[in-house]
Amino acid sequence: MPRQFLDYCAGQRDWLLDFIEALVAIESPSDDPIAVNRCGAELASRLTALGATVTRVASTTAGDHLRASFGQGPRQILLLGHFDTVWPTGQLKTMPLKRENGRLYGPGIFDMKAGIALATLATRAVMAEGGLGQCQVVMLWTTDEEIGSTTSRALIEAEAKRSAAVLVFEPSLPGGGLKTSRKGVGQFEMCVRGVSAHAGLDPGKGISAVRELARQIIAIDDLQDPASGVTVTVGVIEGGTRANVVPAEARAIIDARAVTRADADRVERTMKALVPQIAGAQLTVSGGFDRPPLERTAAVAGLFAEAQAVARDLGLTLEEGSAGGGSDGNFTAALGVPTLDGFGAVGDGAHALHEHVEIEALVPRAAVIAGLIARLTA
Ligand SMILES: [Zn+2]
Repeated sequence: MPRQFLDYCAGQRDWLLDFIEALVAIESPSDDPIAVNRCGAELASRLTALGATVTRVASTTAGDHLRASFGQGPRQILLLGHFDTVWPTGQLKTMPLKRENGRLYGPGIFDMKAGIALATLATRAVMAEGGLGQCQVVMLWTTDEEIGSTTSRALIEAEAKRSAAVLVFEPSLPGGGLKTSRKGVGQFEMCVRGVSAHAGLDPGKGISAVRELARQIIAIDDLQDPASGVTVTVGVIEGGTRANVVPAEARAIIDARAVTRADADRVERTMKALVPQIAGAQLTVSGGFDRPPLERTAAVAGLFAEAQAVARDLGLTLEEGSAGGGSDGNFTAALGVPTLDGFGAVGDGAHALHEHVEIEALVPRAAVIAGLIARLTA
């Protein structure tokens, strides 16, 4: 069975490259809904032409999310990803679409427009070689993943709850591995309030917010636990006005990551429970873990074993690994729905100027995905 998918996808190689290039050619920065919707219109028309039922889901601040469904039946498999990118309009001038030395280059190609094309080719292959049976394949392509998924999260979670499995088409690990665990990602803001005073005339009347913040930073830093993968980074600090004024205000922005839900909860609880160390200073901590960890549960491991079996049938090896960054797969996994991430292209340079995908790896990748979809829909 998987062999057929390889032949089918190999026959569609040019179609696949054209699909990828068409999406990359229409730039779609997260913060420009009009541009994003241009890319979405192209994607929607291509999916509609393949027989999908496509719905545009309007969002308040981002472009329209796209939901496309193929087939009908009570069982649902969700293919998930985004078509917004981190690149501003005009980036194509510095990063033109080009094929060079077996690589296809362009802004947003690896993260993750090639993944959308791979998912689509794989779905076509399954429909052509046996069909979807009593199952529907739902694609959800969102427009605000790169800026926190605020407007898409509820939609993603609702579709995931209806699904037996979620395949996420974010970039693969180096060499093509899938992501069976991802850290949860949190962001906190700490605001400190003190009392200003003249640094020379009235220093005793002041309460330094900067001094309080400095002490807090030491406490926050101590939350790190490299052995269990907990990182806490005070990435931004601000405070004070002039050298000769005891500062009344200071602020820090903190990034926190954890592998397990328990660690994420512990970091969040500790952050929220911090109290001032200097008498008279005031402290507020806001924020939290926006993306829960994608934990390698038994369900995730089971789904990976199925993907690995499909790859083996094709004579390929498929590895697994973890990622320090979060994706929308974190939301679906946290609901207990078996989720595998990193089904996108093999390549390198996400969010970087050398962003590209490996052309020769595309067809086998699509065949593995098709084989897995066929297994999950059988
Ligand atoms: Zn991405």
